[in-house]
Amino acid sequence: MTTTSAPRIPTGNRDDEIQIYDLHKSFGQLEVLKGITTTIHRGEVVCVIGPSGSGKSTLLRCVNLLEQPTSGRIFIINEEITDPDADIDRLRTKMGMVFQSFNLFPHLTALQNCTTALTNVLKKPKADAEKIAMANLTKVGLGERGGSYPGQMSGGQQQRVAIARALSMDPELMLFDEPTSALDPELVGDVLAVMRDLAAEGMTMMVVTHEMAFAREVADRVIFMDGGVIVEEGHPKDVIGNPQHPRTREFLRRVL
Ligand code: ADP
Ligand code: MG
Repeated sequence: MTTTSAPRIPTGNRDDEIQIYDLHKSFGQLEVLKGITTTIHRGEVVCVIGPSGSGKSTLLRCVNLLEQPTSGRIFIINEEITDPDADIDRLRTKMGMVFQSFNLFPHLTALQNCTTALTNVLKKPKADAEKIAMANLTKVGLGERGGSYPGQMSGGQQQRVAIARALSMDPELMLFDEPTSALDPELVGDVLAVMRDLAAEGMTMMVVTHEMAFAREVADRVIFMDGGVIVEEGHPKDVIGNPQHPRTREFLRRVL
């Protein structure tokens, strides 16, 4: 989608949850993001698709400043996270992030994985933290597994704990980077079902995924990236169902 005039930044519109303007990111000589501009709106589910190495993870990691952009500006609910004076820790609490490799603490139970940031970062009393954590474990279908350690759970269960842990911080939006890519095929469905429920509840979600069926059914918008740029974006029925750009067509031919 092209815009004819320069956008006013930030918009000041509370429904603009993530605003990304002309984002560039290089690693040494390698320019990985070459000018990404897009806005994710409240309640929107945006799936980011594209070949390996196209910059999808880097884009997501720039949004919560796990990577420092080379240039460009990013606003989280109209607060600039790329401002050198930004309170990055506070802005990060607005975003839950779920990675391909669950990243649970192996020595903590599922419940403790969910409560640790609540008690240590948000300074909640233990009983309150446990109540919140239990509610979220129940939500992802693991209400009975609070006492289990990650090593005692399947990959799909661990990923659902990771989602419950992120939700326990009561984020305004969720970032997912290939949340099902490390899972055995039979475990993918349970994780996608949890994400579908979240989407149906109105959670704002930015999801890097290779699950085209999920993108087609759940996404409000699909962004196809290749070579560090947004090649094509729009409704999944257009981008996946009727792609306009040859690079999108070529990618879909390989993955569908
Ligand atoms: P995708 O998630 O679409 O597969 P990535 O964003 O992970 O793509 O990577 C895009 C490119 O950036 C790749 O060529 C990758 O090797 C490179 N890259 C990613 N992270 C780093 C890093 N920390 N240092 C150097 N190069 C990186
Ligand atoms: Mg990636």
